[in-house]
Amino acid sequence: MATIFDKIISGELPCDEVYTDDKCLAFKDITPQAPTHILLIPRKPIKSLQYLKCEDQELMGHLLLKSSEIAKAAGLESWRTVINTGAESGQTVFHLHIHIIGGRKLSWPPG
Ligand code: AMP
Repeated sequence: MATIFDKIISGELPCDEVYTDDKCLAFKDITPQAPTHILLIPRKPIKSLQYLKCEDQELMGHLLLKSSEIAKAAGLESWRTVINTGAESGQTVFHLHIHIIGGRKLSWPPG
């Protein structure tokens, strides 16, 4: 079943785009948890880290590199990257995504 993020990738749903290339797309989270809250998703429909395959190694490296570039381009010097995996961790959209969160002091440990 197509997730909200699949529909954003296909253009069926709009997004506030921050970055795009042939492998990934980044856009602002609709319910930001901090002054900067960006989601970075692969165009490939991977449900979560749980379903990664060896063939995804290069893609995951690309995503991490882009997450750093996107955070810095947003003016952040300090930020948190979060990948929720599974419902109990808080994952609500089952299309792999990296949260890039910053612009305020973040507490630890997470809830
Ligand atoms: P997670 O809970 O880790 O699965 O994160 C899903 C994130 O997607 C949440 O932070 C939501 O606020 C965000 N979200 C859901 N729908 C949209 C949308 N249409 N555009 C942007 N962000 C969304």
